[in-house]
Amino acid sequence: MSYRAVNPYNGKVIKEFTPSTDAEVEQALSAAETFYQQAKKQSFEQRAAQLAKLAAEFTKNCDYYARFITTNMGKLIADARAEVNKTAAFAQYYVDHGAAALENQDYSVIAKQPAHLEFSSIGAIVAVEPWNFPYTQVMRVFAPNFILGNPVILKHASIVPECAQAFETACQAADIPTGAFKNLFASYDQVNTMISDPRVQGVALTGSEKAGAKIAAAAGQNIKKSTMELGGTDVCVVLDDADLAKAVVGATKGRLNNSGQVCTAAKRYLVQDGIYDKFLAALKQEFAKYQPGDPLDEKTTLAPLSSKSAQKHLQQQVKDVLAGGAEVLWGNPEPISGPGAFFNPLIITGMQFDNPMYDQELFGPVAQIYRVTDEADILKIANHSNYGLGGAIYSEDLTAARQLAAKIETGQVAINQPLASIPELPFGGIKHSGYGRELSDLGIREFANIKTVLG
Ligand code: NAP
Repeated sequence: MSYRAVNPYNGKVIKEFTPSTDAEVEQALSAAETFYQQAKKQSFEQRAAQLAKLAAEFTKNCDYYARFITTNMGKLIADARAEVNKTAAFAQYYVDHGAAALENQDYSVIAKQPAHLEFSSIGAIVAVEPWNFPYTQVMRVFAPNFILGNPVILKHASIVPECAQAFETACQAADIPTGAFKNLFASYDQVNTMISDPRVQGVALTGSEKAGAKIAAAAGQNIKKSTMELGGTDVCVVLDDADLAKAVVGATKGRLNNSGQVCTAAKRYLVQDGIYDKFLAALKQEFAKYQPGDPLDEKTTLAPLSSKSAQKHLQQQVKDVLAGGAEVLWGNPEPISGPGAFFNPLIITGMQFDNPMYDQELFGPVAQIYRVTDEADILKIANHSNYGLGGAIYSEDLTAARQLAAKIETGQVAINQPLASIPELPFGGIKHSGYGRELSDLGIREFANIKTVLG
């Protein structure tokens, strides 16, 4: 397995990293166990101060950390800075609220005798993370587990090794104890070895359905707790009474942000009959504003994809989508040549249930649009998916929007805004989008021993 940073804007190799040895894996496990045992003697609050230092490190050196995101996976530099700040915000949330979420919970009234729940650490957690949000995804796992007292060993995506290393450097700069966080340039076999090790008690994966099936199976075989944050085919529903301008800007952002490489991106627009023509005309204009260029240039509005192989994969998927009967309404489906991993934004229509690509996640700037009539029609399409991650609804009738949100089979729905992760709210999916929740008070309990004390 090769851990290599290649700039997706120009194809230039930045740096290659030496894979971790088995001895380094053992060292990481041993240090993690030491931290786990020592942390039991500390209070949750003691670790909060160290986590606050980590948040401050990211905020103080935002530009330094942001640049690695842009050069390793192509994110626009302004968005990379926003990600670094969000990484700090995720940490700060657990600094401020982590210990409170782990306070004993009284059950005496329900149990009709003295009883309570206690929350405690369980051991090391292996975090297997994707490249599309190279720092926030890691912090979602690290911050809550660190407060709890669970060490985290990271296996990051092989195309963002400088980001993985930078996260570890940030932890060192913040005096996070040895053993609490370790990045390994690990192979898939080494990940399996760690999952089966008794010092590891959980695995958190964010990634594709394919990786999820493999890691969940390994966790299951070893009776280890796991969380799976996987892909999605989220809908963006635009009802007749939507504020057109808000819907168009939100829907476009929801699809083209991060060049479309977002698990909760608005992958399928379901637009009601009465607003469809106006929405589509405005959508084309909005899409046209996104122009490819150097992601380090502040003026660029559309980033390259994360790699040449992502570009090739999406190109083939679009070919298959069109061969399956769909058609391009807007945009140029011809491949873009050159060393960069650019991809032309597309608006596609005519994706039917019998298209072999119907339920495939298109991880790039490719939107599908459907003309829909009523609620039954919307739900028929929205819920015809193996995935169940998120969604968005645009309507000026909040009651109607909330009623519709309740019927969409996903883990989260946003109204009149693109779906985004915020530290205060649980984030996660159902069906093949995975299980478990990250962020919020629920996220910190995923890998906690929830112990019942009776009497
Ligand atoms: P991926 O190919 O599944 O990779 C994710 C991570 O899993 C990488 O670190 C990868 O390592 C590792 N991995 C893959 N197969 C493995 C195996 N058999 N054993 C051990 N590790 C393995 O996904 P991706 O392309 O990086 O990310 C895009 C996917 O993530 C999309 O489907 C997206 O929707 C999803 N995602 C979900 C969320 C969410 O919160 N639900 C958030 C962001 C992204 P290598 O890089 O070395 O292969």
